Amino acid sequence: MCIFCKIINHEIPCHQVYEDDKVLAFLDINPLNPGHTLVVPKKHYSDLEEISDEDLIDLILVVKKVGLLIKEKLGFAGYNVSQNNGEVAGQEVPHLHFHVIPRREGDGLSPWPRRGYKAGEAEEVIKKLES
Ligand code: 5GP
Ligand code: ZN
Repeated sequence: MCIFCKIINHEIPCHQVYEDDKVLAFLDINPLNPGHTLVVPKKHYSDLEEISDEDLIDLILVVKKVGLLIKEKLGFAGYNVSQNNGEVAGQEVPHLHFHVIPRREGDGLSPWPRRGYKAGEAEEVIKKLES
């Protein structure tokens, strides 16, 4: 059983933020900012492609709820929603989860490095996506 399933089954403790029949939200053990919350479906899905559309709707509505809590109750100005699919994307726990990361001015969480497109590169990408 995966570590988040153990948390859902109360075999491992967590600091719970929100719970309903289908979704659990709890504090990340290594937060980027205090209040960094993980939102997980109670049913085990490994990634975004596995979850049913119906369960995804329930999940994302809790992400929205938690974002509001972070602003209204914890006083943060905003938040990032992030979700990693696959080891190469930084997914460590193979149970679908959304990160809701509280943000304040000057918190030092720098944005990802950006790059530009070379001539014709964007068109190549679109061609592949449409094929
Ligand atoms: P990922 O890299 O898979 O998107 O994120 C996994 C997250 O789960 C990490 O941010 C990590 O800190 C968090 N995490 C891993 N194990 C535990 C745990 O046992 N309890 C809690 N609350 N968070 C955990
Ligand atoms: Zn699981």
